[in-house]
Amino acid sequence: SRGVKKLHQMGLAHSDLSYNNILVDPVTKSACIIDIDGLVVPKLFPPEVIGTADFIAPEVLKTQHLNLTDPDRYLPNQKTDLHALAALIYMYLLRRHPLRGGKIWDLDSEKDEILSMGEKAMFVEHPEDPTNHVKTDQLRKWDTFWGDPKNIPYTIVGPYLSDLFKKAFVDGLHDPIRRPTANEWETALLKTVDLIQPCHHSACTEKWYVFDNTSTPKCPFCGTPHQGSLPVLDLYFKFDDEVWKPENHRLMVYHNQYLFKWHVSRKVIRNENLTMQDKMPVGYFTFHQGKWVLVNQSLPGMKDITEQKEIPPGSMVELTDGKKILLSADEGGRLIYVTMANQ
Ligand SMILES: [Zn+2]
Repeated sequence: SRGVKKLHQMGLAHSDLSYNNILVDPVTKSACIIDIDGLVVPKLFPPEVIGTADFIAPEVLKTQHLNLTDPDRYLPNQKTDLHALAALIYMYLLRRHPLRGGKIWDLDSEKDEILSMGEKAMFVEHPEDPTNHVKTDQLRKWDTFWGDPKNIPYTIVGPYLSDLFKKAFVDGLHDPIRRPTANEWETALLKTVDLIQPCHHSACTEKWYVFDNTSTPKCPFCGTPHQGSLPVLDLYFKFDDEVWKPENHRLMVYHNQYLFKWHVSRKVIRNENLTMQDKMPVGYFTFHQGKWVLVNQSLPGMKDITEQKEIPPGSMVELTDGKKILLSADEGGRLIYVTMANQ
């Protein structure tokens, strides 16, 4: 998402984003985009290919029979990159295609492909229209778990990404300007990382899952319930002297989870411009003698607002239901509000 964001900021479009052109290294946790020889510079270098089957935007496929110079013809551009990016993220996270569902539009498979990915394209998890919902009896044997949205609906990715999938595949599927930008994907992915919890089942195939916002959370992959109390921290910012407003950003606590500067201050944004210093944790959470605590490592202005007590660096504060902790007294400093779930 960050790479696509940078390309778009420079006024370019990739034009052929697909799983063939993204290299992911799970060991170093890095990813890079390749095959940028197809870069599109608007009005200067037109696209040479229309893309890779799974990722071609509906408007491009729908108009591919038209002449290249026809004003109604859609060619790859930044908006079609955003369709491909959404499809990529959906496929990486949910291991199925967002548009390949149960509906057959034409018995001729080539015509069916052009209709189902083009003019008639419809999200397989469309919330109101079941036309293209997955038919379980059509799934191949090895696909019955991930291939079936009834087992693993797209909403398991949490609120931020669910919202973007809906924008990409319902609102923006045939309306390119409504597709989420690469920056929106980047922000939503990073905020979602703050919502994940480790699964307690040692044999769980996925190990982590996004908190489902219920009072009795469980792993959606193996069904194991969360054990013990679970602190949920909501971040607030100072709107004016009197009012603190929610940031729509939540941090889920687990043993040895870290607190970073981008949680503490509105002035630090988690993006490619972070310095090494900004990437250092400023605190951590731990389960200590039967209690959840936040250990302050380096924040000078941290304060327990509920107890009206300073929390100097090197000391800790217990997380209890309803507790308010000011992370920084500086301008842009945030406050966390603690809710204890699964009690
Ligand atoms: Zn599990």
